[in-house]
Amino acid sequence: MADFGICENPDCKLSYDFLILAGLFRQIDSINGMEKRKADFFHILPYLKPFTPFFQFGTQCSKCGQFLYRVTQPTADLQTESEEYIRRSKLNALLEAGYQLRAWGLLLNAA
Ligand SMILES: [Zn+2]
Repeated sequence: MADFGICENPDCKLSYDFLILAGLFRQIDSINGMEKRKADFFHILPYLKPFTPFFQFGTQCSKCGQFLYRVTQPTADLQTESEEYIRRSKLNALLEAGYQLRAWGLLLNAA
């Protein structure tokens, strides 16, 4: 289980469904590519900072109070085009992104 979580409320400002998060995955992809080529990517890391508020420590969202999604949930038993499948896939991908940010030293538990 992650010690951070993601807000599941689609109407929240810190929602997993926020469009800006597509940019996070693009940045992570390009950094992963640089890492593989052993290129220096540390100058790019500050661009990931705007995404860190989406990964929250604690159990509830600081904006809307909804419980945070903290555990990767299986999608194998779901229909691949179903809403729930898409929702869980997005949330799971974000948890992975969070671990990545943490590995790069960008997610720090303030507590
Ligand atoms: Zn929220």
